[in-house]
Amino acid sequence: MEIIKKIPFEFENNDYQIRIYSNAWDFEVKAFLNDKPANGYSYRVSLPTAIDLRMALELDAIQMLVEDAKRDVVEKTWERYVDAYIATLKKTPQESLGCRKCGSRNILSTRVDERDMYECSDCLNVWYGKREWTSGPLTILDDITDGVEKSGAYEIHAEILLNTVFNGRNISFDTQLKNWANQNKLKYKQIQKQDGVYIKFKR
Ligand SMILES: [Zn+2]
Repeated sequence: MEIIKKIPFEFENNDYQIRIYSNAWDFEVKAFLNDKPANGYSYRVSLPTAIDLRMALELDAIQMLVEDAKRDVVEKTWERYVDAYIATLKKTPQESLGCRKCGSRNILSTRVDERDMYECSDCLNVWYGKREWTSGPLTILDDITDGVEKSGAYEIHAEILLNTVFNGRNISFDTQLKNWANQNKLKYKQIQKQDGVYIKFKR
């Protein structure tokens, strides 16, 4: 199938894209986020071959699928489905783990910043367990990981990091930053702004 149209669509500060594919009279619609499928759904229709394909994109039959795709993003239909599926899994600690994105149970668990971090081996989705307690520095680190999770990226003044979380005396700021980003599977770059250097994180 070939992409014939991309429709931008914003929800909770994320830029989604509804893509329409076609192969002759067969059409498929799917929601994307950051160039990856936003969920497991796709929506299809095969039009009668008598239809003039130049008109097809305007047809209600296809517009309806686009609306379905948007609605399932907004109503979090897929997330609710996966949550319900995970809830049916056995409750021993390892077995209760399931990826919220793809439902896989192939999960790596590590301890990062005094909380559990999980990584799906199948789709590379990363998420964190609940904290037992927190502190000022941990709050700053959580703002970064939460920000990346919610919006795809998070920017913070390098000075804040230097004075709080990455202020170790025997190890350079750059090394601490690199190690922390690696542990959390984050990428980052420096951005020069008028009031100084910012670090922009993303996954
Ligand atoms: Zn997954």
